[in-house]
Amino acid sequence: MSSRLQIIVIGAGAAGLIAAAEAAQRNAEVILLEKNSKTGVKILMSGGTRCNVTHNADAKGVLPAFGHAGRFLQPSVGAFSPQQVVQMFTRLGVATKVEATGKIFPESDRAVEVRDALQMQATTAGVRILREQPVRRLIREDSSWKIETDHDTFLADRVIVTAGGRSWPGCGTTGDAYGWLEQLGHTIVPTRPALVPLTGGYDWTRDLSGITLEDCVVTATNKVAGFGNNSAKVEKYRMSRRASWLFTHFGFSGPGAMDVSRIVTLDERRTALRVELDMLPDHSREQIESVLMNTSAKIGRRRVSSVLSDWLPNRLAVAVATQTCGDSMLAELPKSSRRTIITSLKSLPLPISGTRGFAKAEVTAGGVALGEVNPRTMESRVAKGLYVAGEVLDVDGWIGGYNFQAAFSTGRAAGVSSPQA
Ligand SMILES: Cc1cc2nc3c(=O)[nH]c(=O)nc-3n(C[C@H](O)[C@H](O)[C@H](O)COP(=O)(O)OP(=O)(O)OC[C@H]3O[C@@H](n4cnc5c(N)ncnc54)[C@H](O)[C@@H]3O)c2cc1C
Repeated sequence: MSSRLQIIVIGAGAAGLIAAAEAAQRNAEVILLEKNSKTGVKILMSGGTRCNVTHNADAKGVLPAFGHAGRFLQPSVGAFSPQQVVQMFTRLGVATKVEATGKIFPESDRAVEVRDALQMQATTAGVRILREQPVRRLIREDSSWKIETDHDTFLADRVIVTAGGRSWPGCGTTGDAYGWLEQLGHTIVPTRPALVPLTGGYDWTRDLSGITLEDCVVTATNKVAGFGNNSAKVEKYRMSRRASWLFTHFGFSGPGAMDVSRIVTLDERRTALRVELDMLPDHSREQIESVLMNTSAKIGRRRVSSVLSDWLPNRLAVAVATQTCGDSMLAELPKSSRRTIITSLKSLPLPISGTRGFAKAEVTAGGVALGEVNPRTMESRVAKGLYVAGEVLDVDGWIGGYNFQAAFSTGRAAGVSSPQA
């Protein structure tokens, strides 16, 4: 029998590939079990197959993207920052580039390069990757761990769970780990889709399907009762994001809509949910009013839509003008209609009926309660020798490479610390 520490990593996604490599580099004997026939399925499909690996910010700068989880992530992201992620990929032969939005991609725009590099890093360190090994049970046995898959049983001194969440279940992430971890004594914060397109809108917004508003501010607010011991307490949530916005035939998509979806999915009934769109974030109400009035004084026959199309895509300008004042001529516009137009441009309330669910969610909100995991080592505070990293944790961030950053940082922390005594 080998005297080396035996570590099993469950799930060969972003977090698992890094965790396994780091542990093997520290002389552990590492087996990485993956349910699918290939590793890193989500890496391959991410960022429209371009893989937005991280965000161009320092460690402190990425933390606000994670809301309540920012504090938990501080030590692991501090120890493995976006710059260090970029350095790792450079070392692995994947050059990266920063786009205007701050998103960092491989220079080649090929997600497969990212996956291959992480896989190569793991195998070079000595990790044995076993594919088509769906784990069914994780059992504590005296001082070791028993891991049962459909085909085999494995024993290990330590186990790292990086099996992801339940978003996009078609690619294998079906929330398998929550049950095992709950049985071991962990609290699972109720899971819900995040970074998911929104359903709803008005007939006229759905008619705008395909139109993108490049720069707008969306604000979502909600009031929700806490869960578990906090069920009597009503929490207020508010989130505002400046990003692009896509009108679709079912509702809304694009980064702005997807970022605020975590507020939308906080509750099923959505009675206290408010979502508002500021289509002209660089213009104050007063500035818009003065443009409308000045233009009216100069060319009163000009239609409202023609003025709005100086700021908005033409079809959207016509739709807003038609909805608010029947697209009348400026000279015929009563003050009340002017106010309605300005309110629609600056704070258009949008009815939201729901989201496209886990099937189209890029990440899962909720998961293993963060108070039960050591934020430096990712070791469970509930079961010794158990480590939890990546999306299976109650961590979700904005669009922009933040979620891979969290997976890399927490995965690395687990890989570095698990071989230690
Ligand atoms: C369409 C899409 C696009 C995205 N684009 C981006 C992007 O560009 N940038 C970004 O930062 N984030 C993006 N994300 C989010 C990102 O993919 C996740 O945050 C990230 O993959 C989480 O990493 P993880 O390792 O924790 O989990 P995962 O990558 O989900 O890996 C978990 C692994 O565990 C395996 N597994 C599950 N159950 C078992 C089991 N029972 N036994 C064995 N193995 C199991 C799964 O097959 C999977 O390989 C995107 C997500 C989607 C769905």
